[in-house]
Amino acid sequence: MSGGGRTEKTHMDYAYELDLAIKPDSTVPLLDREYGTFSGAGIPLFSLGGGVFRWALFEILTRLHALRGYYIAETPIIASSELFKVSGHLDFYRKNMFLFDIEGHDYAIKPMNCPYHILLFMSQVARFRGKVPLPFKIFELGRVHRYEPSGSLYGLLRVRGFTQDDAHIITPSDKAIDVITDVFDEMMMVLGNVFLLDLSKADIHLRLSLSDKALIGTEFMGTREEWSQAEGALEEAARKLAGKYGVSYSMEEGEAAFYGPKIDVVVKLEEAGIVKEWQLGTIQFDFNLPRRFRLYELVRSVYGDMDVFIIHRALLGSVERFLGIYLEYSRGRLPFPLAPLQVGIIGIQTGGGLDGEIEAAAERVANALTGMGFRVGVRMANKTSLSGEVRQIESTIKPPVLAFIGEREVREGKVTLRIYDHSTRRRKTTVMGLEELVEGGFEDIARGLEEGVRRLIGQAPRIPLRLDQLI
Ligand SMILES: [Zn+2]
Repeated sequence: MSGGGRTEKTHMDYAYELDLAIKPDSTVPLLDREYGTFSGAGIPLFSLGGGVFRWALFEILTRLHALRGYYIAETPIIASSELFKVSGHLDFYRKNMFLFDIEGHDYAIKPMNCPYHILLFMSQVARFRGKVPLPFKIFELGRVHRYEPSGSLYGLLRVRGFTQDDAHIITPSDKAIDVITDVFDEMMMVLGNVFLLDLSKADIHLRLSLSDKALIGTEFMGTREEWSQAEGALEEAARKLAGKYGVSYSMEEGEAAFYGPKIDVVVKLEEAGIVKEWQLGTIQFDFNLPRRFRLYELVRSVYGDMDVFIIHRALLGSVERFLGIYLEYSRGRLPFPLAPLQVGIIGIQTGGGLDGEIEAAAERVANALTGMGFRVGVRMANKTSLSGEVRQIESTIKPPVLAFIGEREVREGKVTLRIYDHSTRRRKTTVMGLEELVEGGFEDIARGLEEGVRRLIGQAPRIPLRLDQLI
């Protein structure tokens, strides 16, 4: 994969530049990257920039899901291994699990969030009986750990510890089509509004993994009726989405997991003549867990004769993996609401009499913007070092907004802004009065840069931070 002459950086190069993560496939502590701490192989450690990125993204995702009617959960990372015995993970997934013993009791680090979410649903139904409305939707940014052989670990793309934007939906069977189309809408909202992907130019494909009808009851668990109802819902939803979004879909018979059929969403984006295929979210039916947890019996005793499905879904999948793919696609540029450093302020000194005023103006802008909740850093440069400084900032922390204050700006009471535009992949220059900028003019600019997120959740997360050390 060559990038038309430009040096090909990997997502880990970009992650380092943005100060997002340590090299996660190394057991050697890299002190300069890690600020004195280290994690195990395949378990990424998000440092200063990475922590800010996760905070901002998680706030957006949490608010979006709350607005879309999901309950928000946070379930423990360590569980009694009994839970995973009931769920079947200890039988079928044991080789991927981290298991340990404390005081003679067996514990597991959760490899998936599903068993907890099913327990939460069942305890709600048991407590409130028929008052729990269906579909019941439960969301969690769930940190899971799965053993992978060390040879297969790769950057953020293949890890042993990651965070899923995970949800489980318990739905009456006749509402399953609506549930699936709603989930797909949510996926498009996040990709388009938060990550600024131009979905009109993307080739989106739905891959339906179905059963082999002859093997239902042997290789594929569940009844023929369950499979045909669920597969019918998947096909009908795929047809609806093809009409609404112009997506294509294919049906792959015999490719389903043993416990249910699924849709994988594959997005192809072309960039510099190279087509990159991303496998993103999944919408997966499950006939196994409801049986193992005796969920059908509970639902029938409370809701009467009703067929329900359990659907697992993730919009991005693994946040770490998505970030890795996204960094390569965007060449390490994160959108304004997610960027660790949003505004880099550069004072350009000349050695003349205005140097003090230039520094004071840069600090004033920095303080005003921090007060508005933006993440800013300040750097002083001189005319000869300026281009080197800018090059360094652009090849490391890459703030979406650069603000320049030099002699001319101080004399005229102005600030020159260079704002990155994700659609053209270039910076646009605009000049604004310094007073206007600190009195709210920057809020107007930010509103434009946060527009997608604001459309989704009403406002963008504001995490005031001075990150001077990162530029
Ligand atoms: Zn699940």
